[in-house]
Amino acid sequence: MCASTSTIQTSNKLGVTPLLLEGTEPQRRRYLPEVAAGDALMAYALSEREAGSDIAAMRCRATATEEGGWALEGVKTWITSAGVARYLIVFAVTDPGAGSRSISAFVVHAEDPGLNYGEPERKMGLKGSVTREVYFDDCRIPADRLLGQRGRGLHLALGTLDHTRVSVGAQALGIAQGALDTAVSYVRERRQFGQALADFQGVQFMLADMAMRVESARQMVYAAAARSTARARDLTYFGAAAKCLASDAAMAVTTDAVQLLGGYGYTKDFPAERMMRDAKITQIHEGTHQIQRLVVARNLG
Ligand SMILES: Cc1cc2nc3c(=O)[nH]c(=O)nc-3n(C[C@H](O)[C@H](O)[C@H](O)COP(=O)(O)OP(=O)(O)OC[C@H]3O[C@@H](n4cnc5c(N)ncnc54)[C@H](O)[C@@H]3O)c2cc1C
Repeated sequence: MCASTSTIQTSNKLGVTPLLLEGTEPQRRRYLPEVAAGDALMAYALSEREAGSDIAAMRCRATATEEGGWALEGVKTWITSAGVARYLIVFAVTDPGAGSRSISAFVVHAEDPGLNYGEPERKMGLKGSVTREVYFDDCRIPADRLLGQRGRGLHLALGTLDHTRVSVGAQALGIAQGALDTAVSYVRERRQFGQALADFQGVQFMLADMAMRVESARQMVYAAAARSTARARDLTYFGAAAKCLASDAAMAVTTDAVQLLGGYGYTKDFPAERMMRDAKITQIHEGTHQIQRLVVARNLG
């Protein structure tokens, strides 16, 4: 399982989902076929340096221009596929002081004037997926790039995350399953004290816990995926719970996999250390696991 590849796909889904949820028919026809054909990639620009978990604190501004379009000004941070994606869904403040209706969403094209990118971030993992800052310097876009209704951006951003957190849960599940498979095959081959590691009860107990974590994550992710497809009312709860449970499972299982491979687990010659580094991001991007717990707690019946 390659976490970089799945991140490219999940961030593309972050860009596509707002169009599916609230895009106009012309907007959907304009962008979705190109993306579905694999000819264009999308990015999702929500986070800022001072607005990560607290996205409502964003400062990036979109101001209506005399020509009837919009001018974007500000900086977005941690944007997956920035500089590679042809289209970006950008969230910006259009109505300061309007509370939950202060933010709107826009489609920005890579070739729009006033759009620039920072250097690639030097990350712990996900080395095959590029992450950059995005700079908007009087970036002018036409009126038909407003996505959904003015002032619905926060609602749209959160509604999008409900669906895409399921995908991060699936990403975490894949990493965890890969780590379990790696550990099982290693302990069956590796011999110490005259027997296979797999024959030690201490190792078996670890494997059993790892397997149960992986299977719990699978069941939760599948339950959430069904709710995403059905656009069920309890998707917010299930999306957050699936991402939280699966990402915590991935972190625990990959850490145990490194342990079971001993010194070899700590080297780049075996895949476990990469899985452990990649598992960490699933507890952070698209909302940290603390934030998922807040969402779960707020959605208890
Ligand atoms: C590799 C990578 C790719 C990313 N891709 C994208 C992308 O494509 N688009 C995009 O918009 N963003 C992206 N992000 C941003 C990501 O979603 C944020 O990093 C994440 O939401 C956390 O925000 P922050 O980094 O500002 O941390 P902070 O919000 O500063 O949080 C720091 C710590 O404080 C905790 N914390 C904060 N608030 C609370 C609270 N109320 N209760 C308890 N604990 C709290 C957090 O859980 C965390 O542990 C990406 C990030 C990374 C690292």
